[in-house]
Amino acid sequence: HAARENGTVLARFDASIAARYTERLQLAGRIHTAIDQGEFELHFQPIYHAADRSPAALEALLRWPQADGSFIAPGDFIRLCEDTGLIVALGRWVIHAAARAQRQLADQGWGGLPIAVNISAVQLFNSDLVAEFSRATEAWDLPPGALQLELTESAVMRNPAQALQTLQALKENGIGAALDDFGTGFSSMSYLQHLPLDSLKIDRDFVCDVERNPRNAAICRALLSLGHSMGLNVIAEGVESEGQLAWLAAHGCDQVQGYLLGRPMPLEAVRVALDQHRSV
Ligand code: C2E
Ligand code: MG
Ligand code: MG
Ligand code: MG
Repeated sequence: HAARENGTVLARFDASIAARYTERLQLAGRIHTAIDQGEFELHFQPIYHAADRSPAALEALLRWPQADGSFIAPGDFIRLCEDTGLIVALGRWVIHAAARAQRQLADQGWGGLPIAVNISAVQLFNSDLVAEFSRATEAWDLPPGALQLELTESAVMRNPAQALQTLQALKENGIGAALDDFGTGFSSMSYLQHLPLDSLKIDRDFVCDVERNPRNAAICRALLSLGHSMGLNVIAEGVESEGQLAWLAAHGCDQVQGYLLGRPMPLEAVRVALDQHRSV
């Protein structure tokens, strides 16, 4: 009896794995088509100077619009793109779309703000990023510094030696880099010290409640001091309240990003937000 029940459980388990596998395969197919048909969009979230709230940069974030008007968030498809290698083609599209957006902003008088593009480990190790970025900026007649990239700690730590090489090549070509979600991975300080980075982005898990939560405050203080001692620009992500912003500014955080000051939005809305800022 027990054996039969076990068998049933196993069969159900197999069926659910098979179903999950089929679902992922179908989604990968839909993503492939969506890349070919140009269905993806970029939204942009402003990054501001903490001291005076003036705009410092923009982060490009992928959105996949659906027929019903909703968006599929990157959290629901980036991982699959990484696992299937689709991220290389999608990432190439993102780099070019960010450059095109930068061209439009520059034409409207907002050319000074670099656009930061998120890069996966797969792209870092399996594509010629210097060539990708250079092609995009040259195609849109932009200086190399018009685009930057954001890499996570865990991406870098998959192959620190190769990451170092790529980051050096990017730097030589004038392309800046930020370490994203800082504090959540396991980077070794001895590697970090050698990476040619421009910025550290403190993960929003630590920014959350920073003005009330002594543990998060201790972590943010440590990350700020670490970043500054390495000569880096420190950016806090996920800033949602005036209390958090006040704490961060008082503790010397250079730049902030979060729903308090601006959500990710289509390019046209960014331009309006920036114009409003200028007219204040
Ligand atoms: P990330 O690079 O750490 O981006 C920040 C995420 O936090 C974004 O989520 C943004 O919408 C969200 N966020 C910003 N401010 C706040 C806030 O105040 N509160 C809260 N709760 N959230 C905030 P999103 O757009 O869903 O992107 C999630 C992740 O997907 C990104 O994390 C990034 O790792 C990845 N991603 C997005 N676009 C791309 C892309 O073009 N390429 C690659 N490889 N990854 C991407
Ligand atoms: Mg990012
Ligand atoms: Mg981040
Ligand atoms: Mg994050």
